[in-house]
Amino acid sequence: MEDELLSSWLVRTALAHGCAPLALSGIVWPKWRAFGNDLDRGMRTERAASLGRLAGCTVAQVESCSLHSLVETLTDKPTAPVGTWPWILARGSRNLRCAAGLQLCPSCFAEAVPYYSIRSRLAWHTVCARHQTWLIDHCPNCWAALQPHCLLPPHQDCCACHRCGYLLSTTLVEKAPDSFLAFQQAADECLAGRQVTQCQSMATHDWFCWARSIVSFVRFASLHPSRSLIAVLDELGIGTIGVNCSGLAFEALPVRDRAVLLRQAWKIMSLDPMILVKVFRAHELPRSAIQLPRGSSVPSSLSIIVQALRDGPKKHRSRRVSGGARPNAAKAWARLLRKFSRDG
Ligand SMILES: [Zn+2]
Ligand SMILES: [Zn+2]
Repeated sequence: MEDELLSSWLVRTALAHGCAPLALSGIVWPKWRAFGNDLDRGMRTERAASLGRLAGCTVAQVESCSLHSLVETLTDKPTAPVGTWPWILARGSRNLRCAAGLQLCPSCFAEAVPYYSIRSRLAWHTVCARHQTWLIDHCPNCWAALQPHCLLPPHQDCCACHRCGYLLSTTLVEKAPDSFLAFQQAADECLAGRQVTQCQSMATHDWFCWARSIVSFVRFASLHPSRSLIAVLDELGIGTIGVNCSGLAFEALPVRDRAVLLRQAWKIMSLDPMILVKVFRAHELPRSAIQLPRGSSVPSSLSIIVQALRDGPKKHRSRRVSGGARPNAAKAWARLLRKFSRDG
């Protein structure tokens, strides 16, 4: 498939020939536990060449299925071989098990050959744009994270849950409101190199850097709901944040949590930058509230917003209102859920 992840193609090829995906990967790379790594992030040239020789394709074709070139568009920083990549869902691999990192649309799986697309790894994708239904990132029957590489024959494709055999294409789908698609559509437009409203003449990696900063602001407001921050949000017309902030990295959050964060972030990103400047200045919002990704600089078109933030101590934290999130307990619970999704 044109936009298929390499891991998905390997799984489908193995199962179609009555072979376990792990066995096939052992034949292609006898000295490398391919599925013990996030092989969709790319591999050494000699490993791509090994696969290319057996599959009858070039190294460039193998590498085009990886997420590496895509993530270089999203950030101007070099990608680390380990750790979470910005905007790419984290797999949370341990041995051959994964805690998360893949998602699918049950209707798309039911209508055509089921496969995992490159889009299924993008953290801003939470809704199927075609069916406008929520994506799923775990089996609704046993709650296992989607791990198609653990499927075994007689399964012939990647439509089933590896743990309980539930047919993922039969999952009852739920419509997602339009407002949850807005950020996703804008990010897709930006990735395709088209200009996005309110962010004219901004480079793609600058737009994603700005989006990441606003997402961090929404999380900050949810974790530290001081009176002044609530006043800022009220004045911006955002109202209650309503985000369940576990403290996990954005790329490790479940579908619905990411969707809520992105919907709120989009409300802020859609505002005229001068309104943000005025409100941030009026309420002396601290610089710590909007954090740029490490090593990033402010896109020149938005530097005026960052300059409106107040330097100095984080005094907003000490005036927390009641009813705010309890990040430590929520984070521990979220980690437990991820462990259960991976290990059962
Ligand atoms: Zn769909
Ligand atoms: Zn299951």
